[in-house]
Amino acid sequence: MPRSIEITFTCPCGASFSDTVYQAVNVTLDPRLLYRLLAGTLNVATCPNCGRKAESAQPFVYHDMRRGLFAYVSPRETVDQDEREALLAELRKVYVLAVQQSEHVLHRRDRAEEPPRPTVRRTRPGDELAAKIEPEAPPMQVIFGVGQLAALVDSLLEPEEKLGKVALSARNAGTAARERLRAVAGHIAAQAQCDIMAEEDADTYTVWIYGPRARVNTLAAALGTHA
Ligand SMILES: [Zn+2]
Repeated sequence: MPRSIEITFTCPCGASFSDTVYQAVNVTLDPRLLYRLLAGTLNVATCPNCGRKAESAQPFVYHDMRRGLFAYVSPRETVDQDEREALLAELRKVYVLAVQQSEHVLHRRDRAEEPPRPTVRRTRPGDELAAKIEPEAPPMQVIFGVGQLAALVDSLLEPEEKLGKVALSARNAGTAARERLRAVAGHIAAQAQCDIMAEEDADTYTVWIYGPRARVNTLAAALGTHA
């Protein structure tokens, strides 16, 4: 199973477009995904025609190896008994994938650095199930609701690691000017390993550059604006 899949969305406005939906989110391997989670853009597709947003209902595995967070996340906050059974079946599938990925990276690190240290296991919800599936895997939590996950992740961050945003905006901009602004913001963001999201509000078009606060503050200072 791939870490992400392309899904085709059909918008109420009639437009059809495809976007990436992550099934395994490993923020140690791909740190930008952590900030997409905090900014509310992870697994949220935006229609290129009308700007409507569509949240994916697909569950995913979230893994932060450095901060010791390993979770199975169901986007919806509540599930009934039938859905729970289906969810657990899906969980067994994705869990194996995530374990393989992290073991691959950990083995690579072990070879490069020092011999593996014994790990301290903490008991968490989902442990019992996780232990049955893969006894050597890190403890896993089961989280309902992307908002719950975002709150937990945010609580683990140092102040300078928290979400920072800086806005580039234009008033009464035509299509060409908007595309230019978006391209410029995208270029700046890519160089700083940050992401962008666009917003329309009456006559103002805004492109937010977001990422770790320390990096965004540096960007904002260089751009002569406030983060
Ligand atoms: Zn649309």
